[in-house]
Amino acid sequence: MVREMLLAAVAAFTPSVSSAPPTAGAAAPVVPVRSWGWPLDPRPAVARPFRAPPTPWSAGHRGVDLDAGVGQVVRSAGPGVVSFSGMVAGQGVVVVTHAGGLRTSYEPVARRAAVGLVVRRGDGIGVLAAGAGHCLPRTCLHWGLRRGTTYLDPLYLLEPPLPVLLPLSRQ
Ligand SMILES: [Zn+2]
Repeated sequence: MVREMLLAAVAAFTPSVSSAPPTAGAAAPVVPVRSWGWPLDPRPAVARPFRAPPTPWSAGHRGVDLDAGVGQVVRSAGPGVVSFSGMVAGQGVVVVTHAGGLRTSYEPVARRAAVGLVVRRGDGIGVLAAGAGHCLPRTCLHWGLRRGTTYLDPLYLLEPPLPVLLPLSRQ
């Protein structure tokens, strides 16, 4: 089941030439060739990579840490709707829900966008907050990706490497 979900996730990442017919009405979403981008501009360095937990309850790193400066604008990695904006364990968190059941999360974020805001790829959803990030003494943005309860490497959104995604189906 998880494997099917991941494959569906991959399909969602992959631009489809058969979708979005040009005759579609104004309400039909137009899927750009490249739907995803880095949540920071310019392209950040990856301070700490994703590390899938061997079991759902064990330690891992459920996202990637991107070098960022306090006050830097945090951007939605793709089109969607802000579905959570608030504090979790003392950290400001923004979650964006995307088509296909994908959710991206961003923390620590201040001046957070409101729940319900429709965003495009690259739209600002807040600024990097000072204080208790887990990159101390540096500052970073923790960027997460989930499909359902499964954590995925958000870097796959940018360069989907299908053969690398498949081993995650062991979870
Ligand atoms: Zn992190």
